[in-house]
Amino acid sequence: MLVFSDLDGSLLDHFSYSFEAARPVIDILIKEDIPLILSSSKTFAEIEETRHALNNTHPFIVENGAAVFIPKGYFVHPPGDTVSRGNYLVYETVPGREQWLAVLEKLALQFPGQFKSFHGAGIAGVMAMTGLAEHQAIAASDRAYSEPVHWIGAPEEEERFLHVLRREGATITRGGRFISVSGDCDKGRALDWLREQYRRALSLSRVEDLAIGDSENDRAMLEAAKTALLIRSPVNDFPLLTTSGGIMRSNKMGPAGWSEGVTRWLRTHRISL
Ligand SMILES: [Mg+2]
Repeated sequence: MLVFSDLDGSLLDHFSYSFEAARPVIDILIKEDIPLILSSSKTFAEIEETRHALNNTHPFIVENGAAVFIPKGYFVHPPGDTVSRGNYLVYETVPGREQWLAVLEKLALQFPGQFKSFHGAGIAGVMAMTGLAEHQAIAASDRAYSEPVHWIGAPEEEERFLHVLRREGATITRGGRFISVSGDCDKGRALDWLREQYRRALSLSRVEDLAIGDSENDRAMLEAAKTALLIRSPVNDFPLLTTSGGIMRSNKMGPAGWSEGVTRWLRTHRISL
């Protein structure tokens, strides 16, 4: 059994980023040897920090499904299609961020002063744009596959800007104030690939899984898993799913809703608390 979870607004509280309300249920997953796989739009550096706080030792999915990081030695037989980076084997699904920085550099001439990217803004600029503290801004800026862009020009020009980006092969994901410019990836395809690695490693015909998310960028992941747990959000509606699997919706928000839903899922698999 596997649990794939989004961070912001799901395992982490939308406002305080706390996961305390989920701690008892996280401990049950550890006791039952059920891997908790973090899957976020955040960067490697940001997710590493959360994994450390959670004492989590499992693989994780970064930058909206752009890459899957597997600790070296985690699987007895290392998965193919991976590259070695530090202590991890990395399955990359899209080209590197440099490609999009080059495209954005060209677009800066065509749309002068009309957008700001993380790279162009620098750490101080990212702090000003996001309200993050310096060490958080450094971790958020340490991106490998995608570039957040803040459009500050006229709204009617933005569509033309996005059109040019898409023509250059970019996939655009909207999240709050920023649009994320990246290759063609999503959390769902990353989940499918990683679940297959577990299935092979465990010599099973099928691996039972739960995916947990609160918003639109989780939709592909929620639809890829056998069971989806939608976490109630203070800022958006539940994402709409077209899935043949089971769908659960939490009553509570953030980590409290996470605990509520995971507990229910464990009970349906006869794991009592
Ligand atoms: Mg979220």
